[in-house]
Amino acid sequence: MIKFLDLQKINLVHQREIEERIINTFRSGWYLLGDEVKTFEENLLKYIGSKYAIGAANGLDALRLIFRAYIELGIMKPGDEVIVPANTYIASILALTDNGLVPVLVEPDVRNYNIDISGIEKKISEKTKGILIVHLYGRTVFSQELKNIAQKYNLKIVEDNAQAIGSEWKKIKTGNLGDAAGFSFYPGKNLGALGDAGGITTNDEELSKAIRALANYGSNQKYINIYKGLNSRLDEIQASVLDIKLKYIDEENQKRRQIAKRYTKEIINSEIILPEFPEDENEHVWHLFVIRTKQREKLQNYLTENKIQTLIHYPIPPHKQRAYKEWNEMSLPITEQIHNEVLSLPISPVMDESEVGVVIEKLNLFK
Ligand SMILES: *Cc1c(COP(=O)(O)O)cnc(C)c1O
Repeated sequence: MIKFLDLQKINLVHQREIEERIINTFRSGWYLLGDEVKTFEENLLKYIGSKYAIGAANGLDALRLIFRAYIELGIMKPGDEVIVPANTYIASILALTDNGLVPVLVEPDVRNYNIDISGIEKKISEKTKGILIVHLYGRTVFSQELKNIAQKYNLKIVEDNAQAIGSEWKKIKTGNLGDAAGFSFYPGKNLGALGDAGGITTNDEELSKAIRALANYGSNQKYINIYKGLNSRLDEIQASVLDIKLKYIDEENQKRRQIAKRYTKEIINSEIILPEFPEDENEHVWHLFVIRTKQREKLQNYLTENKIQTLIHYPIPPHKQRAYKEWNEMSLPITEQIHNEVLSLPISPVMDESEVGVVIEKLNLFK
């Protein structure tokens, strides 16, 4: 069986380092807001190139905290609108509605599945305060045009960088392209913890302070609460694991890129539409390799029969979920088409050449 993602194998590569560090953290007797988190935050901000990094409990919280901080700082208020891609994982949207902000959905560019930047300006109203971009599947979405729009209308750009750590735009890392970024270190992400974990990067000092306090009961000093905060902290043990794995992220992303390159070159089948391999290969870290086909069910069954595990990211778009029943009648044809046709192939830093070869061979034989 070629697994979609072999998490055990991914983590066993670092077994000795991780076990040693976890034992040290265990023995230290200090489990929250200590040196491990501090060290990881320091290494994360260096890696991203941002001034500040703050650990959080998970990726959804990281995004919630950013918008909550903008509200506490008076930069946004409930009822304000934020532009967001219609084609995203639901967490991006939950982070907005959880704060009383109104998501304004914009259709993707079918070539790269990311928000169609040319569709943003016509969705801007007097209430628009921000743009939440999502570097979906690991592909950077950014452009000078986007920057210009944000500047023209005085909008904050927030990055959902859950899927794209290590990706770049003109040598700038995702997570350092906008005003603030949320990261997920969910086990299956390119930089994955051994449980839930997340983080935020920004160059905005005031925002970073507000986020840090909000993540810790709204407190910036023990028993002094300046905001109605959350409890959303990164655990010391998870920080220690992440700090080790961060050292290898470029190497591991490069392995994903190598696989994506082979898939893109060698899969030749008129039933299958391949994702765009960006001209600047640093614009993609291939969290997922997502193909499209009109015969998705048939193809997925065929691959299962041939012992190749695939997944669908994602089968139902946010606006068709019961959670957002107020949007269920909305028509977003490109988003819906993508959701009906996508299939994610196995890709990971521990997949070997022969497995990649088998996936290619089987896909080329599919009719
Ligand atoms: C994983 C993910 C999140 C949420 O991260 P969690 O750590 O699972 O809370 C947010 N946005 C996107 C695009 C994701 O893929």
